[in-house]
Amino acid sequence: MTVTLFGFPWDASSSYARGAALAPPVIRAMLFSEASSPWSISGANAREIVTAYDFADLPEDGAAARASIEARIASALKSGRKPLSLGGDHSVTYPILKAMKEKHGPLNILHVDAHTDLYEAFEGDRYSHACPFARAIEDGCVGNLVQVGLRSVTPHCRTFGERHGVVMLGAEETGAIPYDRLGGPLYVSIDLDGLDPAFAPGVSHPEPGGLSTREVLQILAKLPVSPVGADIVELNPERDINMMTAGVAARFVKELAALMSD
Ligand code: MN
Ligand code: MN
Repeated sequence: MTVTLFGFPWDASSSYARGAALAPPVIRAMLFSEASSPWSISGANAREIVTAYDFADLPEDGAAARASIEARIASALKSGRKPLSLGGDHSVTYPILKAMKEKHGPLNILHVDAHTDLYEAFEGDRYSHACPFARAIEDGCVGNLVQVGLRSVTPHCRTFGERHGVVMLGAEETGAIPYDRLGGPLYVSIDLDGLDPAFAPGVSHPEPGGLSTREVLQILAKLPVSPVGADIVELNPERDINMMTAGVAARFVKELAALMSD
C-alpha cells in the first residue's frame, strides 16, 4: 500500500521553545538528499513507497489547525492510503489519531518519547504537546498504549497512565516491550526526544539518558504487524547540530515507510 507523507508545520502547542514547525521541509529535504540512499535497511525504496505529499500550511487557530489535520488524514485514509506524518510538535498526534480511529477503531500504539504526554492539561492547555495521549485515550482512540524511552514521568502522569492501563517503560526497559500488545491496527508515534541527545540533539526538550538510534530501529523491526499509520515529531531544526537529528528522522521515515508498505 502506498504512503502519503504529511508535513504539519505546527509548534504553537509547545510549552517551551518554538521551532518544530520548521521541521517538515527539512526532513523532506534530507529524505531526498543525495548524501544518503533512499533504501531502507530491509531493502525497500522509500521514494517508491511515498508517492504523495501534503505539506500545506495550517490555520493559525489551534482548533482550526487540528480540524485541518484530522480532515486531511481522513481524506488520505478514504482513498486507501496510509499516512506518515512529520511534525510539528506532538500535539499534532491527537487529531491524527481521531481520524485513524474513525477508519480503524481503537489503535494499538507504540509511542517512543522521553515524556508520557498524558497530562490532563499543561499550563492550562488541554491540547498542549504534553497532552495528546490523554486526549486520545479519553476519545476512545487507543487500544493498547506502549510507551518506551520515558525518563521524566510525573506522579500526575503516572497515575493517569496506570488508571488507563498504559505500559510505561524507561529507556533501559526496551527488553520488556510487550510486542503481543502491538497487533493491528498498529500506529507508531516517535517523539525524537525519546532518543538520547547524543543521537538526536535537535529537539526542544532534550533529556539525557535516552534511546539510541539503533535501539529504535531494532524496536521497529520487531513490530508484529504493518503499521496503519505513523508520525515523527518534535524535531526542532533551530537546535539541531549539522542536521544530525533531521538525518535520524529521515532514517525513521525510510524504515516506517518500508514497514507500512507491507
Ligand atoms: Mn511527546
Ligand atoms: Mn517528548
